[in-house]
Amino acid sequence: MRLDKFICKSTDLSRTEARRVIHAGEVIVNGDVVTDEATQVHENNLITLAGRQLVARPSRYLMMHKPAGTLCSNVDGVYPSLFNRLDIDRADDLHIVGRLDADTTGLVLLTDDGRWSFNIIRPQQQCEKVYRVGLRDPLAAEVAATFARGLLLQGESAATLPARLEPIGPKEVLLTITEGRFHQVKRMFAAVGNRVVSLHREQIGAVRLNVPLGQWRHLTNDEVGSF
Ligand code: URA
Repeated sequence: MRLDKFICKSTDLSRTEARRVIHAGEVIVNGDVVTDEATQVHENNLITLAGRQLVARPSRYLMMHKPAGTLCSNVDGVYPSLFNRLDIDRADDLHIVGRLDADTTGLVLLTDDGRWSFNIIRPQQQCEKVYRVGLRDPLAAEVAATFARGLLLQGESAATLPARLEPIGPKEVLLTITEGRFHQVKRMFAAVGNRVVSLHREQIGAVRLNVPLGQWRHLTNDEVGSF
């Protein structure tokens, strides 16, 4: 990671303060003064600040049960940010892995480990996301086959990847997709003439939502390692 990020992860300094101590020549990496904040360092490097050895805090991995009417953003907008519900130190260091719309509920993963989140969202990973979808109209017979084949969304030139549809009621389905296009689930149902009236993410990869609405917990080591 970058040296300034490492300093933030191992001290209480902000990014600006970290840069200041780096530029002031107070940071030594493996015996050499380093004044470029973008220098790549590894946790195994011996890094000192004003003579004190720094050790990076371990990365954090959380799940949250997002309520409707909250934003997957670090700042409030039309709705309050779900970060307001995160009663944890340094919440600002965390980012969301795969955003949900303001009116969507369910599983949100948060972390300060950029490599971990990139691995989950990168298209090649084809990580499965399971949504419980409430529909305006009863599900038409051919939709499961259409989604399994893939379909063109409005304004796009590449068809969606095969998706799995499992009816659980006349107007309720479980949908498993392996992509994360903008408003994907709503647009898929719009493309077949239906409309999503409720949307809830139940699962990402092997990680299933199991905290009450509005609450969060740390992921287990197995959950973190499952991606
Ligand atoms: N697809 C959508 O349309 N909205 C979401 O919030 C998530 C997936």
